[in-house]
Amino acid sequence: MPVLTPDNRVVAIDGPAGSGKSTVARAVAARLGTAYLDTGAMYRAVAFVAMRSGVDPEDAELVGRLAAGMTLEVSDRVVVNGVDATIEVRSPEVTRAVSVVAANPRVREELVRRQREWAVEHSGGVVEGRDIGSVVFPGAAVKVYLTASDEERAVRRSQEMLEMHYDEVAADIARRDHADSTRAHAPLTVAEDAVLVDTTSRSIDQVVQLVLELVAEAGLA
Ligand code: C5P
Repeated sequence: MPVLTPDNRVVAIDGPAGSGKSTVARAVAARLGTAYLDTGAMYRAVAFVAMRSGVDPEDAELVGRLAAGMTLEVSDRVVVNGVDATIEVRSPEVTRAVSVVAANPRVREELVRRQREWAVEHSGGVVEGRDIGSVVFPGAAVKVYLTASDEERAVRRSQEMLEMHYDEVAADIARRDHADSTRAHAPLTVAEDAVLVDTTSRSIDQVVQLVLELVAEAGLA
C-alpha cells in the first residue's frame, strides 16, 4: 500500500451546483469521522469581502489583494476578517458575484494554497468543490464527480433558495455552469481518474454508501 500523505488522504468530491456535493460530502465526513471542507464557501467569502469593501468583483488586482490579506475560517460557520458571514455567503448577491471572483487566478492561487494547508493540518479529509480532484489534490485517494440532470439540480437548489423563483434558480445555475466550465484557470472538469456518479435518481444514502465503498477500496477507512 502506498504511504498515505495529507494529499492522498483526501476524498475529493467535485461537481456542478445542485449535484448533491455538499450533502454527500458532509455525510461522508461524518461517517468517516474526518474533517470536511467546503471550498465553494471560500470563493463565496472572497466575493462577500469584495462587496462589503465596495470593491468591484471584476477588479482582479484589488480582489486578489483582498483574498491574500483576509483571515478566513470555514467550518460550520464562515468567518471572514472576523465577521460571521455564514448566511450572507449564500445570498443571491454573492452567488451572482462569485463566478467572476473564482475566475481570478490570484484568488485561485491563494485559496488553493490555503486548501492544501488545511489538508496538512487535518491529515486529509473530505473536500468538495469544482477542481479538487483535478487541480488541488491530484493525488487524492478517492475522486468522485457528482452530477444530475439540469432540471433535478434546479429543483434541489430552489428548495434551498426559497426567496428565488424556480426559473431564476435554473437560469443562475446555467450561467454558473457555463462560467465555471469555460474559465481559463482550473475550469470545472471531470478528473481523468474520477468516478462519475449521476445522482438524478439516487437517494443521498445510496450515493453516500457508494462513496464509502470507494473510500474502503482505497484503503482510507
Ligand atoms: O459550491 P458552490 O456553489 O458554493 O460554489 C460557488 C462558486 O465557487 C462556484 O460557482 C464556482 O465559481 C466557485 N468554486 C470554484 N472552485 C471550487 C469551488 C467553488 O471555482 N473548488
